[in-house]
Amino acid sequence: MLEEMDLTPVWRLRQSAAPDVEQASVAAPPSSTADPRSAIRESRLPAIDDRRAEIMSLDWAQLKQRVAGCTDCPLHAKRNKAVFGVGDENADWLFVGEGPGADEDAQGEPFVGQAGKLLDSMLAAIRLQRGQNVYIANVVKCRPPGNRNPGPEEAAACEPYLHRQIDLIRPKLIVALGKVAAANLLASDASVASMRGKVHEYRGTPLIVTYHPAYLLRTLQDKAKAWADLCFAVRTMEGLRGGVNAPT
Ligand code: URA
Ligand code: SF4
Repeated sequence: MLEEMDLTPVWRLRQSAAPDVEQASVAAPPSSTADPRSAIRESRLPAIDDRRAEIMSLDWAQLKQRVAGCTDCPLHAKRNKAVFGVGDENADWLFVGEGPGADEDAQGEPFVGQAGKLLDSMLAAIRLQRGQNVYIANVVKCRPPGNRNPGPEEAAACEPYLHRQIDLIRPKLIVALGKVAAANLLASDASVASMRGKVHEYRGTPLIVTYHPAYLLRTLQDKAKAWADLCFAVRTMEGLRGGVNAPT
């Protein structure tokens, strides 16, 4: 497998104007003082549960349609296209990024810009290919203006869609790409460095954490760590399949 790394020159790719996903931390939720809004928040809870239940009842076609027309959080206002996700709907592997950038917003497909090229090389390094036993999605389906990080309320509003995608795909392993994906999927503010190399869980599905490809384009010295993470992911998948020689 190490040979694969030398076969992927894109790993040494040029500078990118990609968003600063890695350094950012998830903003703290609004502070809750003793205020009358707590009553309003409580009265909203059933509506939130109803919305999740409604989304969880959708099939693929209905879910795609729902996301394409979604106006449930402020990110809808400036998007060009909602970016649903792409790939094999029965995939063993699910890669989750942060949110669409400019290229993705224009094309309606995740990871099609510079970071996407690197993601494709990372997949190739472990003999995977977009669309073949791999599904790619994001924490938020609409582009945060200026490539800022999605806020906690935006991520929370969009989470039922990813939840439903995961329920329909039933991947064996989720790979969270970068801090924002890991923080939202694991409800943790820990660093990527501290989350790497362990098998976590998202709603019962094994999940591992690695660096975001946009971060790797700027931080070449962490490329080797990302490679180690991919090898760890492959070993984890082999274990989940119940044998090192199990066919892919
Ligand atoms: N970065 C992401 O996190 N997702 C994309 O789809 C593209 C860039
Ligand atoms: Fe809807 Fe998600 Fe887009 Fe917000 S980001 S408008 S919740 S699809």
